[in-house]
Amino acid sequence: MKHDISKALFARAQERIPGGVNSPVRAFRGVGGTPVFFREAHGAWLTDVDGNRYLDFVGSWGPMILGHSHPAVLGAVSEALKKATSFGAPHAGEVEMAELLCSIVPSVEKVRLVSSGTEATLAAIRLARGATGRPCILKFEGCYHGHADSFLVKAGSGVETLGLPDSPGVPEALARLTLTEPYNDLPAVERLFEQRGREIACAIIEPVVGNMGLLAPKEGYLKGLEALCRKHGVLLILDEVMTGFRVARGGAQELYGVKPDLTTFGKVIGGGLPVGAYGGRRELMAHIAPEGPVYQAGTLSGNPLAVAAGMACLKALGEPGVYERLERASAAIEQVLREEARAAGIPVTFNRVGSMWTLFFCEGPVYDYRSAKKADTGRFGRFFHAMLEAGVYLPPSQFEAAFVSLAHGDAELEHLRRAARTAFTSLG
Ligand SMILES: *Cc1c(COP(=O)(O)O)cnc(C)c1O
Repeated sequence: MKHDISKALFARAQERIPGGVNSPVRAFRGVGGTPVFFREAHGAWLTDVDGNRYLDFVGSWGPMILGHSHPAVLGAVSEALKKATSFGAPHAGEVEMAELLCSIVPSVEKVRLVSSGTEATLAAIRLARGATGRPCILKFEGCYHGHADSFLVKAGSGVETLGLPDSPGVPEALARLTLTEPYNDLPAVERLFEQRGREIACAIIEPVVGNMGLLAPKEGYLKGLEALCRKHGVLLILDEVMTGFRVARGGAQELYGVKPDLTTFGKVIGGGLPVGAYGGRRELMAHIAPEGPVYQAGTLSGNPLAVAAGMACLKALGEPGVYERLERASAAIEQVLREEARAAGIPVTFNRVGSMWTLFFCEGPVYDYRSAKKADTGRFGRFFHAMLEAGVYLPPSQFEAAFVSLAHGDAELEHLRRAARTAFTSLG
């Protein structure tokens, strides 16, 4: 495969964009080499600027659950485009989207639209602090909640891959208000709440973690966390930016039967355009301006093009059997990768919840930050590049989830098998 045009673009990009990319994990720092620049994407396939084609398992990091350039999304955006690109004033689409979100996720009674997942989580913790009058937040090691100051403490893949445990520029005084505990460890939370529960406004968690590779919650973990939060008056925020409308139509809270106080969304709800949202119990959301005093605003919030794309995506996901289809495709992908790894004698741990998965290059189980760190990142890097060469685009980090879309069918599965056979064999 030739990458001449990508390489030339990357050289130019590095002159004018920090690290040559607009988001760190795109930079291949976790796997070595130069990032691929893309030109087009249709269905499950990407075409780069040099004309190479790849089967895509990044899916723009989650939003492209229908596959790329889905006709329903393209159609909705081009219809919206004929009318306006932005009002900075209310429009009907926002109301429809709020109603749809609330109808699919029962814990969400009122919702505010924003333009990214980062904005949603940032607003949700401000709301939690404003509503409880408590200063601290609890997050979990390796969970990523966007790049707001309070969250850049033990913050998962992007930060992890670069080997920056924390970010300069985050004041210590603020970082001290962010408490962390390991994921999947309820006794640790219990001890913390006994000691400092009254200082803690909220616990925020990725219910299924995607940002240190895919980690599933242990049996009873999320329900246990919910109960501990109730007991200590700590608000529970499920960060469903990645899992919302992905692991089930109603997100991880539907899958695991958890009722959070607040939920954050992003990724899938924009259908590939910038939409985020946060919502929850009516009386909590009443603290948000202008209904209440907790301030949060956005010039492009509820943008009509973004909302049209998001609505088209959510409606397509409402068709019968969609999540069953996604599960079947994902299970088949898991089986192929397990079989090819075994045939080549490569020890791996395959974690998967629905259409999110990670192939860890280590013996399992992998269920928290510490066990994820055992993975052989050098071997992952070699596997990544062998797959890329064979026409499969994986997340360029061992500590990121891969995503399956509804456009991943039988032909894609066969392509994956051939690529995986070559790639695993090359590791031997
Ligand atoms: C991607 C992600 C975010 C941040 O969303 P952006 O749109 O990138 O700002 C927050 N939380 C989780 C769980 C995510 O996966």
